[in-house]
Amino acid sequence: MDFEAKIREDRESLVEDIKKLVSINSVETDPEEGMPFGRGPAEALQCFLTLAEEMGFQTENFDNYAGHIDFGEGDETVGILGHMDVVPCGDGWVCDPFCPEVIDGKLYGRGVLDNKGPMAVCLHALKILKEMGLPLKKKVRMIIGANEETNWGCVDYYFNKKKITPPQISFTPDAEFPLKHGEKGVFQYQLVTDIKENIVLEGGNAYNSVAEYAYALLPQETEAKVEAGIEAWGKDTGCRYEYSIEDGRLKLEAFGFAAHAANPQKGTNAITGIMKAVQDLALGSELSDIADFYMEKIGFNLYGENIGIGLEDEVSGRLSFNVGKVETTDGKILFSIDNRVPVSYKCEEAQKLVEKELEGTRFRFENPQATESIYVPKDSFLVETLMEVYKDVTGDADAEPQVDGACSYARALDNCVAFGAILPGQPDLMHQKNEYLELEQLNMWMKIYLEAIYRLAK
Ligand SMILES: [Zn+2]
Repeated sequence: MDFEAKIREDRESLVEDIKKLVSINSVETDPEEGMPFGRGPAEALQCFLTLAEEMGFQTENFDNYAGHIDFGEGDETVGILGHMDVVPCGDGWVCDPFCPEVIDGKLYGRGVLDNKGPMAVCLHALKILKEMGLPLKKKVRMIIGANEETNWGCVDYYFNKKKITPPQISFTPDAEFPLKHGEKGVFQYQLVTDIKENIVLEGGNAYNSVAEYAYALLPQETEAKVEAGIEAWGKDTGCRYEYSIEDGRLKLEAFGFAAHAANPQKGTNAITGIMKAVQDLALGSELSDIADFYMEKIGFNLYGENIGIGLEDEVSGRLSFNVGKVETTDGKILFSIDNRVPVSYKCEEAQKLVEKELEGTRFRFENPQATESIYVPKDSFLVETLMEVYKDVTGDADAEPQVDGACSYARALDNCVAFGAILPGQPDLMHQKNEYLELEQLNMWMKIYLEAIYRLAK
């Protein structure tokens, strides 16, 4: 379908609408009467629905948790899922992140990429399809959440409390192009052991990030051995080490490199750095015991093989194993673990395997939190159609759909894939300072989403 002229005609009003949405600070705040995620998310959601009403669409606001916009009729529904809340901005912006500005052809503002810009593009795509009066067999429904960035209270309310029937097929423009048709399970838990000695071992700060810093307190007498060991440990672990003497104990610090838990091989784990050093020092203490366990069951292995969960499948590859955090508290040491589980396995299967491997050791398994994987086959109508659109519009004939360990909004419902909106080569500034959108890119987005909605619904 030739949408070029329409896209050109619509361009200015699209940019205005993105600016209008981005001008609302929709970072979550404390709830207010009728505004479960605070004023900003509610206002941004209503603003989006109002834009749609002005274009002549039916809309419904579900108590400022979420809303939807309907276009057309049909037994089947094509869903487009996105959100109007944003993450906090931090400092160092070239402009006020809630007063969007165009500088050198780039529109700066919080949410231009994540997710207000792409959602405005999809809404304008619906507007163009409506104006052109093209015959569609399916209904198209945009579902807009107001709480994606924190707890997903929006989609929970919409699907579980209000029990709105999910569309049969959906995409979310809240990740990257070309397309993700599967996402591994996210399985987080703790490995815990009780301690009797006065151990201090701390590092990392979240399950889902490779620990970039860790330290332990050791007996001062280890100083000579530490001094002698640092160089070799650095070579083994990739960490940089420092030590100091504090109150009669030696503080050994390791500095690694943070990375997302879905790709632990991109980082250097400082907790592993400390554990390796402690093991080498062979102190004969309880901490040594813990380091021995760690190096045997985890160590440098990032795929869970040493702890019995070397799971793998053809469509999604290997399980990933990340140690995000270690803490000493209330007579216990807790390691916080994040696994991304291949789509053919349930998190519970991984749990059973780990528990079995812990039998007879001093460690136990605690606090599991599972988000199961999602998967839509490559040869489904949804994936095939969207890939075809992407290849046709971009000319990138070699593009392949992906499966990875990330956690996108697509998990909110069945039969949903992440489709855009970051294009290859476009800097991924989602959640970063100076989030910007090259206005040049808007035409490509419009062409892809227009064609995608049209081909899915026609
Ligand atoms: Zn997002």
